[in-house]
Amino acid sequence: MSKTGASKGVGKLSEAVIGFAATRPEELFFQIRKGERPRQKAHACDSRSQSWPQCFVVRLSDRCNLACTYCFDAANSARRQDMDLTTARQIADYILRVPGSKPVISFFGGEPLVNWKTGRFLLETLRREGSAKGKDPYFNVITNGTLITPELARELVADDITVQISIDGSRQDHDRYRRYPNGAGSHQATLGGLELLRAASPKARVDAQVVLTPGNVNMTGIAENLKAAGFRRIKFLHLSDSEGRKRVWPASAVRRLMQGHEKFYRYYLQSAINGHPEVDMGFAYLVASQPEGPKGLCTCGLYEICIGARGDIYPCPRLYGHPSVPTLGNCATIDPAAPLNVSRPAPSPDSECARCWAYDWCGGGCSFQCQKCALMPSGRSTVTQRLWCDLMRARFARAAITYRLLRQSYPKCLESIQMLFSDGSVA
Ligand code: SF4
Ligand code: SF4
Repeated sequence: MSKTGASKGVGKLSEAVIGFAATRPEELFFQIRKGERPRQKAHACDSRSQSWPQCFVVRLSDRCNLACTYCFDAANSARRQDMDLTTARQIADYILRVPGSKPVISFFGGEPLVNWKTGRFLLETLRREGSAKGKDPYFNVITNGTLITPELARELVADDITVQISIDGSRQDHDRYRRYPNGAGSHQATLGGLELLRAASPKARVDAQVVLTPGNVNMTGIAENLKAAGFRRIKFLHLSDSEGRKRVWPASAVRRLMQGHEKFYRYYLQSAINGHPEVDMGFAYLVASQPEGPKGLCTCGLYEICIGARGDIYPCPRLYGHPSVPTLGNCATIDPAAPLNVSRPAPSPDSECARCWAYDWCGGGCSFQCQKCALMPSGRSTVTQRLWCDLMRARFARAAITYRLLRQSYPKCLESIQMLFSDGSVA
């Protein structure tokens, strides 16, 4: 988006307020709320612990054709295998019997396209048998994009699948981590996947998933670059400091990331007013969830579950194969009519979370956002962790401010942000 285009239409919002929201969001948030803080109830998430999943992240394969050096999946202890058709049939039966009319199926891996024949079988089975049961499934594939061929691009578009491609911005930033086993970068092949999908149809839904890493925090530059390349929606994640791996985010890098978010806020607001709130789906979701705010960042085991190549169910793709996380059952044997019961530990009274004004919205964090996992609290309390939580609270406060600003001055724009999630999905 050009600077000229981006600045169009911000006239109704005071520059001073925007600057205040960008740089001192919590202060402005509390001023707006006249000192009233969100009600704290540390048991907030527990009330959600009994429900049926509606989003099924299905690992078609544990294998990947790339060997990205930052991949959290490399740490899981699961055996590397492809899903077979017998398991896929059991998974389809399970999904079809879980209560709910609009299941979202996200094909995932490893790299799901290394075993696409099983993905195609699941898609065809769920569409055909789902429609007989009054279900209307929605399909995504989360891929590195490098295995997309012209034929596959045409098939994905014809099958009305949303393709989420993992891409971290410029070639240099992407190739720093996202490489083939021989060390070669994958950026060119990833963009090639996008081009093939666009060639198959200009209406192809191709979204970008970006992992921000130390040194790659220029969110505005990344968003401009990816929109110009032809991506539809953008989702930003933060590289997780995995357990057992050397910490990659020193405090100085987290501070730079906080500045990246601060600078990006103005760009986001202008983009949203110009009709492009999808340049940050995570922030858009926080705005859309106002005025109550999100009911926790983690929906794992509640709205979303992860199903492995052998049909085992885990609460979260990140916890898949984790030695200390038991499976919730297997699709072949679990009762689909029984709600899943994923317990979420309440924060201890002397913890940061128990004292945090944002607990009801955050629910104890998420590793992809602020390095704390709501299901596996680490108990670690460091200067760096506090910075991550400051970053998260700033995002919550900016979202609450943005909701109020848009409601007052640009109600249509707020509506369009809410429309992004009108199917009940979360970013
Ligand atoms: S922002 Fe940090 S301290 Fe606050 S609830 Fe979330 S994880 Fe806990
Ligand atoms: S909070 Fe933990 S379980 Fe939930 S999505 Fe994040 S990493 Fe996964």
